[in-house]
Amino acid sequence: MAARTLESQFGRLSVNDENDYQKPKTLGSTTQVAHSSSRPNLYKVALQAQSANTVTTVTLPSQAAQRKGVPPASPTRKPLPSVSTVSKTSSEEKEIAERKSAPLIEQPFMPKEFHLGMFEIGKPLGKGKFGRVYLARERTSGYICALKVLHKKELEQGRVEKQVRREIEIQSNLRHPNILQLFGHFHDSKRVFLILEFAGKGELYKHLRREQRFPEWKASQYIAQMASALRYLHRKHVIHRDIKPENILMGIHGEIKISDFGWSVHAPNSRRQTMCGTLDYLPPEMIKPGSSDNYYDEKVDLWSLGVLTYEFLVGEAPFEDTPVMTQRRIAKADMTIPSFVSPEARDLIKKLLVLDPQKRIPLEQVQTHPWIVKHCIKGERASNREKKDRSNE
Ligand code: ATP
Ligand code: MG
Repeated sequence: MAARTLESQFGRLSVNDENDYQKPKTLGSTTQVAHSSSRPNLYKVALQAQSANTVTTVTLPSQAAQRKGVPPASPTRKPLPSVSTVSKTSSEEKEIAERKSAPLIEQPFMPKEFHLGMFEIGKPLGKGKFGRVYLARERTSGYICALKVLHKKELEQGRVEKQVRREIEIQSNLRHPNILQLFGHFHDSKRVFLILEFAGKGELYKHLRREQRFPEWKASQYIAQMASALRYLHRKHVIHRDIKPENILMGIHGEIKISDFGWSVHAPNSRRQTMCGTLDYLPPEMIKPGSSDNYYDEKVDLWSLGVLTYEFLVGEAPFEDTPVMTQRRIAKADMTIPSFVSPEARDLIKKLLVLDPQKRIPLEQVQTHPWIVKHCIKGERASNREKKDRSNE
């Protein structure tokens, strides 16, 4: 979205800078001067980041077709406990070494001292469990981003400070076109601010509810992007564990942006307390009584990808039922795929929703699955056709 079209969204300052940081003209304080020369242009870096680490074996349309207009408000479902784990292995170290040779990595991504005065705050974009998100513009570069404001008191009360710290660490090290980027963070005495990539088309969940279900070509493109992002995450030993439409945002070109890296809760003891969220995406190995944290591996995301594929195509999750029944049905992988779902999609869903985590189809094979290959190539044409139809309206 051109910055100009966003102009009207910056009419007021919604977040007060309690430290009363300097206005743009006086930005050149000692600290600022020290950083301004070495600080890479946020916009340029973000664009570079966009092209880095793209791992996809399928052809995706340059612009997925999206309907115009603001989606109507929809009920939000509570998130499931989500966990991301990071550990370094030799392959990751190798990757880090490879990335070090890339120009993007050589540059420090952000200045050490971000502060609220550097941003012009625009309209609220949404409200989460622990804070609000605002449209924001970095004053010097004009770069549009989303600023998430978390109140320290609430983080303390929710006992999630440690997780937040860890998640910031994880998410700011991720660079993938289908993963919402965290550019940086800063804090004052009361709040923590996260500088996030702005997802211009909002929540995927709202698009899905509005369209009821996605046509196969569109679902297939989304799943291909999900598979690419998950492959990247798993290579870095990050398990998302909370894949569902509510945690997927959309970029301005209709591309998928995975967000929410387990802020909410991921300590084993707090998991039970948060079981009140939707159970629909829980894999069988996570609902097993007595299962320990160590039991899970990245295969949980494959199960969720199966649930997501189903929900994209059918409009509701495969095990949607009363909470007790949902758990029972998940434990038996008891679901029915409606007849309007194509044989190829049916095949992929069945290969993902497999009780034994080790037997789920691996992501590389998801990316080359006939349903993905077929629709991602045809999808380009379908999306172009939809665009053409719209322009004739
Ligand atoms: P929770 O914190 O309980 O997981 P949440 O994921 O909905 O809830 P946030 O991540 O704080 O909470 O976001 C709140 C809402 O703000 C989102 O649902 C979305 O509509 C909007 N939003 C968040 N981040 C962005 C972003 N980067 N770009 C555009 N909109 C965003
Ligand atoms: Mg969320």
